[in-house]
Amino acid sequence: MNKKGVLIVISGFSGVGKGTVVKKLVEKYDYSLSVSATTRQPRPGEVDGKDYHFKTVEEFENLIDYNGFIEWAQYVENYYGTPRKYVEDELAKGKNVILEIEVQGAMNIKEQYPDAVLIFLTAPDGNTLKTRLESRGTEDTKVIAKRLKRAFEETEDMSHYDYLVVNDDLDICVEHVHAVILAESFKTAKNIDYISNMKEELSKIRKEITL
Ligand code: 5GP
Repeated sequence: MNKKGVLIVISGFSGVGKGTVVKKLVEKYDYSLSVSATTRQPRPGEVDGKDYHFKTVEEFENLIDYNGFIEWAQYVENYYGTPRKYVEDELAKGKNVILEIEVQGAMNIKEQYPDAVLIFLTAPDGNTLKTRLESRGTEDTKVIAKRLKRAFEETEDMSHYDYLVVNDDLDICVEHVHAVILAESFKTAKNIDYISNMKEELSKIRKEITL
């Protein structure tokens, strides 16, 4: 069956476990994952080119000028952007591409790619989110406070997403996100080529069969 690739946007509150969910999805299923560029400092263990393409502000602003991003945004004082070439190449190959980006970027993608599927990952409740951010231990209290404030602001945008998935149990969450994407890929609007091929084939068969 000739299917078009699906562009999948996964957003969610800082600390909700987006990175882990996305990593598991990519390990388990055949998704292409876009690696973003950022000006933020690498966290311990993060690898350039794998977790992010780490850039200076000057390098990042050059890429903006050269139309190198399909979207970019500023988030808690750093730039983040989705490289154009990788995403366009993978979609052209018919691959399902995951972008793990924040809400401004997601809204921007929806405007440019109306067929994109927007999934918002959330925690079971506010206190669980706060505890997860604190126990990650990678940010100081000031940054955590900023990220929680941003999370509050992001509640305004949750309803603009197509799907809301709760990350309580990691494995269940991964299966729920995969199920959403699978259902999207079966939409008739995503299978227009299949419909026209089927029509053509059946038209030939109909003519060949003499009643
Ligand atoms: P973190 O610093 O925790 O890795 O990421 C901060 C936020 O930036 C997260 O919400 C993450 O999803 C978002 N982000 C990562 N890459 C991109 C990107 O390419 N574009 C946009 N708009 N947001 C991104």
